[in-house]
Amino acid sequence: MGGGASGLAAAVTAARSTAQVTLLERGHSLGRKVLASGAGRCNLSNDRILPENYHGARPAAFREAVSRFKAERFFSELGLLTVTEADGRIFPRCGKSQAVLDVLKAELERLKVEVRLGAEAAAIERAGPGFKLRTNKVPWKKEEAPSADEVLPCDRVILACGGAGYPQLGGGESGYALAKALGHSVTPLSPALVPLLVKDAAIKRLHGLRLEAGLRVLGGQRELCRSRGEVLFTDYGLSGPATLDVSREAVQALAKGPVQGSLDLFPEFSPQGLRALVAGRWPGRSKRPLKDFFLGMFPAQLSAALIDSLGWDASRPLDSLGRDASGRLAERLQDWRFEVSGARGWSEAMATAGGVPADEVDPRSFASRKAEGLYLTGEMLDVDGDSGGFNLHFAWASGLAAGHAAAS
Ligand SMILES: Cc1cc2nc3c(=O)[nH]c(=O)nc-3n(C[C@H](O)[C@H](O)[C@H](O)COP(=O)(O)OP(=O)(O)OC[C@H]3O[C@@H](n4cnc5c(N)ncnc54)[C@H](O)[C@@H]3O)c2cc1C
Repeated sequence: MGGGASGLAAAVTAARSTAQVTLLERGHSLGRKVLASGAGRCNLSNDRILPENYHGARPAAFREAVSRFKAERFFSELGLLTVTEADGRIFPRCGKSQAVLDVLKAELERLKVEVRLGAEAAAIERAGPGFKLRTNKVPWKKEEAPSADEVLPCDRVILACGGAGYPQLGGGESGYALAKALGHSVTPLSPALVPLLVKDAAIKRLHGLRLEAGLRVLGGQRELCRSRGEVLFTDYGLSGPATLDVSREAVQALAKGPVQGSLDLFPEFSPQGLRALVAGRWPGRSKRPLKDFFLGMFPAQLSAALIDSLGWDASRPLDSLGRDASGRLAERLQDWRFEVSGARGWSEAMATAGGVPADEVDPRSFASRKAEGLYLTGEMLDVDGDSGGFNLHFAWASGLAAGHAAAS
């Protein structure tokens, strides 16, 4: 149950093996996160899937399933044309996530999979070798409560209920409760791939600016993780892929104490190389005001925020700033510290850290080790990927493996 990425892949695969498949989705449409993914373009996979792109207590357990699955092949068989960008991210060629959902829905129709929308799996229990599943009817109107519907007997059940992020797109914890009812444990859940809140006014002033940067997260003075890529400055702090990729560690560290971030505005330079670059620009501009130093280097709003962060006066000539000013500036350009004060929370978390531990399922078939005939896929498991198509890749891969195993 669950008509998201992994549930759709599982239903298609199980039905191809001639099993009678019913897909339960508590929302009133399928694949809501798929549609929203990649800002409507659906970054459905990545052609450079590496173990370090996945996190959790034991993500390496799924290494084989993840590397065996080729999203391009799976989708090309469904008729979807894909394109791989220079950085490895894979998208539908037409640039529309709707196309991904369309080919999956057409296949469900062709295979005569029974799709029940507004059907919530409310409780599950063992019944002989199979299961009894109690379902609720979910009304269209949000203010009305779900009502008890029916009890479905099932031989096998695939739990594909997703994670807790983006409740407005179907996220929630009901899948974890169903897994627990059948003997599974669930490690603590926390938001991942979530924008970060920053206190410093200098950072917030840059609202709307996007740039390529390095980003580190520090707890105490210890580096917890780092990323490199696009950073988006917002009126509350930072977003963009490079921020999302460090957010799981930042959120977990915030639960233990203060957290700092550090921006590197020249990630392609070594510290010595950047010192030389800054020192080399200094003499020719020594009589000019500090703000002119950054002409041709940064947008004006960024230079103004940087100058403020150093406590310098933008109108002062460079040669009045003291002997080691160029060294201090070079250092600041690669280590611009700020306080991370929080994260945006579940409503903006594109993934969930934590879940059903990897060692409670067979890593090839995604079969439960607690309840025979049960399978768990996608975000329900304690695995979360970096931004760049890794989460959908895991969802398709686990759904396909579980669908295949459940039907055989
Ligand atoms: C805005 C946004 C953008 C994203 N962009 C990308 C991207 O570009 N690339 C990428 O790789 N990843 C992206 N992700 C992450 C990716 O969408 C998810 O990791 C992936 O969808 C997880 O698949 P899933 O099948 O585990 O869960 P989901 O896709 O969340 O599906 C779970 C489904 O189960 C249903 N459900 C839950 N409980 C029940 C129940 N009790 N009974 C019946 N149905 C139930 C839910 O309504 C939901 O439809 C994005 C996520 C978001 C929110």
